[in-house]
Amino acid sequence: MPSRTSSARKSMTVADYDYAVKCIVLGDSGVGKTSLVQRLNDNGKRTMKTTPTVEGIYHAKSLKIDQRTIQLSIWDTAGQEAFRSVTRIYYRGASCAIIIYDVTRRSTFNSLQSWLDDLKAHSSNSKAVLVLVANKCDLVDERAVSHEEGQLFARRHQMSYLETSAEKSTSINSMLELVSQEVYNNIKIGSIVPNPESNGIRVGRKPSASEQEDERRQKSSCGC
Ligand code: GDP
Ligand code: MG
Repeated sequence: MPSRTSSARKSMTVADYDYAVKCIVLGDSGVGKTSLVQRLNDNGKRTMKTTPTVEGIYHAKSLKIDQRTIQLSIWDTAGQEAFRSVTRIYYRGASCAIIIYDVTRRSTFNSLQSWLDDLKAHSSNSKAVLVLVANKCDLVDERAVSHEEGQLFARRHQMSYLETSAEKSTSINSMLELVSQEVYNNIKIGSIVPNPESNGIRVGRKPSASEQEDERRQKSSCGC
């Protein structure tokens, strides 16, 4: 799947994307959140001052899904998670959450439920796409949480599941494609109606008449 990285200096114009989507990254300190996000694009980092003391950092990445450009902004916690002080502002307007654990530390797997609880408590979007990421899969000999356990947790919580290695750059594009595809599928079937206020999804370029017709046909064929 081709993907395009946007430069930090290039400002996005309306025509650059079809849908802009905020995606947050959650998980215990040390699981590899920053390492994974930094693998996306070392030039695309933008720092947003959300309050005088708390900064959020995001990387912008564009992907083509079914002829549509999805502009993902992927937010890192900037270390707030070490003090369990991830703020409401961080969660606001997130359309998807990537929740990460470290396969070599069971305690990080045991924390997943509390991250889901935090998300539920702070997010205004009940239809956020959730992806569970088992990171550090390169450390085969130190593995403490099996593939099956990860998959089972994901299934129980209606999440997609993926194993990654930030160290070896394994499955990082797959992670982005999964997130973009799931958000777009929800838009396509009408289960998410883009609204920057409620679900944080912004519409950029207006679809052409033929694209609208394609979408209408897809909606009617899936019976939604
Ligand atoms: P964060 O606190 O969740 O942002 O975690 P960091 O990205 O700072 O990573 C914590 C440590 O784990 C660092 O020493 C990273 O180099 C290491 N690390 C992150 N991802 C991986 C991975 O996939 N494999 C291995 N072997 N080490 C990793
Ligand atoms: Mg970090």
